[in-house]
Amino acid sequence: MKLLEHEGKTLLAKHGISIPAGALWPQTPPAASASWVVKAQVFAGGRGKRGGIRIASSHAEIASLVAVMQGSTLGDETVHAVYIEERLDIARELYLAAFIDRDRGRVAMIASAAGGVDIETAAKETIARIEIDPLIGLAGFQIRQLRRALDLPPEQGGEFEKIVAALYAALVGEDAELAEINPLAVTRTGAIVAADAKIVLDDDAIGRHSARGTPVAWTSDSAFMRRCRELDAIGVDNRGRISSPGVAVLGNGAGLTMATYDLVALAGVDVAGAIELHGALARGIEHTAEVIGALFMLEADVYLINAFYQLRSTDALAQALVMALERARAPARARIVVRMRGVNQHASQKIVEDAGCFYTPSLRDAAAKALDLARDAKTRMAAR
Ligand code: GDP
Ligand code: MN
Repeated sequence: MKLLEHEGKTLLAKHGISIPAGALWPQTPPAASASWVVKAQVFAGGRGKRGGIRIASSHAEIASLVAVMQGSTLGDETVHAVYIEERLDIARELYLAAFIDRDRGRVAMIASAAGGVDIETAAKETIARIEIDPLIGLAGFQIRQLRRALDLPPEQGGEFEKIVAALYAALVGEDAELAEINPLAVTRTGAIVAADAKIVLDDDAIGRHSARGTPVAWTSDSAFMRRCRELDAIGVDNRGRISSPGVAVLGNGAGLTMATYDLVALAGVDVAGAIELHGALARGIEHTAEVIGALFMLEADVYLINAFYQLRSTDALAQALVMALERARAPARARIVVRMRGVNQHASQKIVEDAGCFYTPSLRDAAAKALDLARDAKTRMAAR
């Protein structure tokens, strides 16, 4: 789940990081400021370069900037709100971030003296990086390593060290995947303030933070994910991270679904996404057909359905599949591989085969067939 800047800042402040005085329009802008920064609240960065960060020097000017921003878009991003802050007198723009490095299996932190809107092009040598051992936690020498890269005078150095520790605590304590401050502003009076905040919380940790309410922007949001939530099915959407349409997986039960998913992924074939039926059959065949319809939204090369029912009847799922196939935008039946076991397995086989899909009771055979089809599709794509 992504947070808007003002939400992220509230969270940083909770962990002791200084933020500018600010108010969300139409609340009264912070007093005692000669000028203000009017900031469009969107779920994306780069606002500075796209007119989403504007300076105002009177209340009238604030109002006219708000009138333009509110309800508009920045690129293709909806402006969800407008946030008004006291304008900082910035002397230096630093960069500081903490995030989960999945490849390394650790939290990493990076700091750079070259913060601001051009951080993407900052030279590698200007960026200091540490990796935090989960058993030891953030060590003093690591904090100093980041501090050294910034070349700060003693007093600010001490303040910066506190911010590093606070940002790490915020990432871990809030179950965030990313907590980035860019710029971390050093003001002319020597204070260090988070002038921006980009925070992404771990969707899977939502249950541990029940006070947060329903997220507005999930980390991996798409029409597919929204449809899964509507249908109370558990979806995974990988399409942003894979290079071919790959295989879409549907199963009943998290264990079976993820095992099927892993089988495809371990064979080196892209998994476009997955759905765990999450008890869909209990809500009827029609509802289950809707869930299978959601799976088709992944536009994969192959659909691998793997189900095992000992109490419910597998043929209800087979019927739901047929229902889903009769609807608009259903994929070619030859690209659907079904493995089903359990109650009424033989009836299911007949239904699935009559519908023109591939059926097998063996997971090994089902996976082999799905992988074959996916590789065929990939070769065909390459030949074109
Ligand atoms: P982003 O472009 O979406 O990352 O938005 P930021 O909040 O980081 O703002 C972009 C840039 O605007 C910053 O790097 C600063 O240079 C500038 N900026 C933002 N707030 C202030 C402020 O209070 N005072 C000054 N002088 N510049 C600011
Ligand atoms: Mn920024």
